[in-house]
Amino acid sequence: MSARDVLGATGRLRRDVPLAPLTTYRLGGPARYLVEAETEADLVAAAALASEERLPVFVLGRGSNVVVASAGFDGVVIRLGGGFSGRSIGSDGVVDAGGAVPLPLLARECARAGAGGLEFFVGIPGSVGGAVRMNAGCHGSNTAEWLITARVLSLQTGVAGDRSPGDLDLSYRHSNLADDDVVVSARFRSAATDPAAAEERIREITRWRKATQPGGTLNAGSVFKNPPGDAAGRLVDSVGLKGFRIGGVEVSSRHANFFVADAGAAPEDVHALVVAVRERVRAATGVELEPELRFVGVFE
Ligand SMILES: Cc1cc2nc3c(=O)[nH]c(=O)nc-3n(C[C@H](O)[C@H](O)[C@H](O)COP(=O)(O)OP(=O)(O)OC[C@H]3O[C@@H](n4cnc5c(N)ncnc54)[C@H](O)[C@@H]3O)c2cc1C
Repeated sequence: MSARDVLGATGRLRRDVPLAPLTTYRLGGPARYLVEAETEADLVAAAALASEERLPVFVLGRGSNVVVASAGFDGVVIRLGGGFSGRSIGSDGVVDAGGAVPLPLLARECARAGAGGLEFFVGIPGSVGGAVRMNAGCHGSNTAEWLITARVLSLQTGVAGDRSPGDLDLSYRHSNLADDDVVVSARFRSAATDPAAAEERIREITRWRKATQPGGTLNAGSVFKNPPGDAAGRLVDSVGLKGFRIGGVEVSSRHANFFVADAGAAPEDVHALVVAVRERVRAATGVELEPELRFVGVFE
C-alpha cells in the first residue's frame, strides 16, 4: 500500500486544497496535497508520501508569517491538527503545549493560571510550532527566553527528540530548523505571577497593538527583520514609503513594516513590493533589509 493510500484511508489527506484561507494574508493558490496530521505517525506517513512522489514538504502553522504564490505549492503541505493542541500548566509552572496551540490562547490561559512571562504571546497570531521555528517575540521577550525544550520530528529520518534553545540555535527571528523539521510540542518555564497583574499586562499589550498596528487588515506582521540597532519600519518610513503601493498591496501608513493587501490582491504584488522597498531602502540608506516573511511556492 502506498503512503497516499494509507493517509487517504485516515481521511487526513486532501488534494488541491486552497491555502489562502489558512493564512492571514488570505492570498495564494492550492497545495497539491494537504495533510492534517493528528499523530506523529501521520507526520511520518506524510513524509513517505512526499518521498514516494518526489515532492517538497512545507509545514504550515497558522499562516501568519507566510505568503503563498498564486500557483500555490506543488508539494505536500502539513498542518498539525487537534491531536497537537493539548496544553497543561504544572504546579511547578512548567507549561507544555502542542505545536498547533494558538499563541494568544496559550498567553491568556497562562495569565489566568498565574504562570507569568508568556503574556507577550497574546500579540502574535501564530502557533507554538511557528513561534519556535521563528523564535517569535515582542515587547522585550522572545520564545528562546522561556523555552525549555521543543520536541522536533525530522521528516527526513522519522525520528523525534527534544531540543533545547541552544540546540535550536535560537536568535533574533532565527532557528536552525529545516523545512522538514516539525515542532510537535514545546515545554516552557514561567514565573509565578498574580493572575490579575498578568491579565492587565495582556490588556496593555492588546491596547498597544491596536494603537500601533493596522488591525483588521490583511497582513502577515513585520515584513522585514529589524537591522541591528534600528527598526525596519523607521527606515522604510524615512525613505518616504508609507502608502507606496504595487497592485493590490501597500506599505501601511500606520506602520511601515506592515504591508497590507486588498482582498484578492496577487501574492506576487507582496513579493514585488518587498523587492522594491528593499531596493529603495538600500539605495537611500545603504542598509540591506532581510525579509522576515516566508514566501511559499514559486515567485519569479
Ligand atoms: C498581525 C500580526 C502581528 C505579528 N506580530 C508578531 C510579533 O510581534 N512578533 C513576531 O515574532 N511575529 C509576529 N508576527 C508573525 C507571526 O505571527 C510569527 O512569525 C509566528 O511565530 C508564525 O507562526 P505561524 O504558526 O503562523 O507560522 P506560519 O506563518 O504558518 O509559518 C512560519 C514559519 O514557521 C514554520 N512552521 C510553522 N509551524 C511549524 C511547526 N509546527 N514546526 C516547524 N515549523 C513550523 C513554517 O514552515 C514557516 O517557515 C505577526 C503576524 C501578524 C499577522
